[in-house]
Amino acid sequence: MNCKRFVLILAGAPALVLAIHVPVAAQGIPQPEPVAQTAASQLGNVSAVAKEAEGWLAELIKINTSNPPGNEEAAAKYIAGVLEKEGVKLELLEVGPGRSALVARLRSAAVADPAKALLLVAHLDTVPVDKSHWTVDPFGGVIKDGYLYGRGAIDDKGMVAANLAVFVALKRSGARLNRDVIFLASTDEEPSAEASIKTLIAKYWDKFAAGYAINEGGNVFLKNGKVQYIGVQATEKVAANIAVIARGTSGHASQPTKDNPVVHLAAAIAKVGAYSPPVHFTSIVRRYFEGLAPLEDDEIGKWIRSMETSDRGEHAQRVVSEANPLWNSIMRDTIAPTVMNAGVANNVIPPEARANLNVRLLPGDTIDTVLSDLSKLINDPAVTLEVKPNAGLAAPPSSLESDFYNIICKVSTQEFGAPSLPFMSTWLTDSAQLRLHNVQAYGLVPFPLSQEDLRRMHGDDERILLSSFDKGVDVLAKIVAEFSVTH
Ligand SMILES: [Zn+2]
Repeated sequence: MNCKRFVLILAGAPALVLAIHVPVAAQGIPQPEPVAQTAASQLGNVSAVAKEAEGWLAELIKINTSNPPGNEEAAAKYIAGVLEKEGVKLELLEVGPGRSALVARLRSAAVADPAKALLLVAHLDTVPVDKSHWTVDPFGGVIKDGYLYGRGAIDDKGMVAANLAVFVALKRSGARLNRDVIFLASTDEEPSAEASIKTLIAKYWDKFAAGYAINEGGNVFLKNGKVQYIGVQATEKVAANIAVIARGTSGHASQPTKDNPVVHLAAAIAKVGAYSPPVHFTSIVRRYFEGLAPLEDDEIGKWIRSMETSDRGEHAQRVVSEANPLWNSIMRDTIAPTVMNAGVANNVIPPEARANLNVRLLPGDTIDTVLSDLSKLINDPAVTLEVKPNAGLAAPPSSLESDFYNIICKVSTQEFGAPSLPFMSTWLTDSAQLRLHNVQAYGLVPFPLSQEDLRRMHGDDERILLSSFDKGVDVLAKIVAEFSVTH
């Protein structure tokens, strides 16, 4: 069953949804168990492993892998200890001093078939912290009110621990696999950096080559305490940076001049700030909005449905863009001014002023188009624009027709009681590089997360609700079992 049909069923027939969720025994109709449960039941007591994995996650949080410098090897060695106790062979993959990924494999046959293999991937490094804004030690593994606090709790050590739990449950169960399952704890999530997945692929591809992958990138979105939908990431935007450089004549600040570069830069940035690049819908975003419309309240649902009508389309796009920054960002390229540098002293007009624009392109759009639109917009000979090196590469989207995608959607919808929608993340993940290597990679952090907890991800007091973590491990186990366990 594909995700879209699932959405329509759920949206159109609440009574049917109820019927699906009433236990079969209670209806008195003898029926075979759903396939997901049959496959998952071969994994034994997953909830006991999830409880153990809470401990692994706390220990991983205590190992500071803030990037820079990363220091992922320490976390990789901790995981090695967990896997060695289970009798799993593993390898550390070095990509720099103190920076190693870890790979381990459960075999389905004597000879590996990389095209069939499933990769469970998550990154070990985290963004840095400003401890002074935290109410707890970000590296303490503190548990409070049912939450585990710490840098990386969500991004992405939670997923490392969940992947590890599923992998260990598979190993302990001795379940027969129909494809290899590979666990990869990766280094450096920054795609252009030295220790990134690009380097891992270049040096060690044969160690984790796979046809399918599950990674971060999508989420289980909560609204008013209930799962509203599951966003399964199948593509992502592409990042680039543009330098804005204003040049003028330096001089004494006591005699201001018209060509002061600070003034020209400020005017250019103000224009960029007020500018909205044109809307266009990729097929995944179109399907996302189609699925989303019935889940929103009537008013916003109506505007979402009107976005491509000829008479009200433009107005509808504006209403929807303003209702949610995520929606705005998935229907257009975005340009965010992020850094400004100008001036050497309070009493000197500087010769140059610079800013950085962080650009996120829809897959398929080119930075050259943005560049030419911006130079027309700024329209100032004193200002030049330069694309910075290391712009991202667009990857083809993962298929919305693959068996793995259908299983992710089907199991998630059953387990969370909400529709699964194809999702494009505005943020970057390792999946882009995997997709460039023909991997059908999907993003789903399987823990139900509130908007508030999602916001803490790169911010202060990052945390995960332990009951969400346990549920996520359970759902991930069911997904992996249904796809990989012979049943
Ligand atoms: Zn991440």
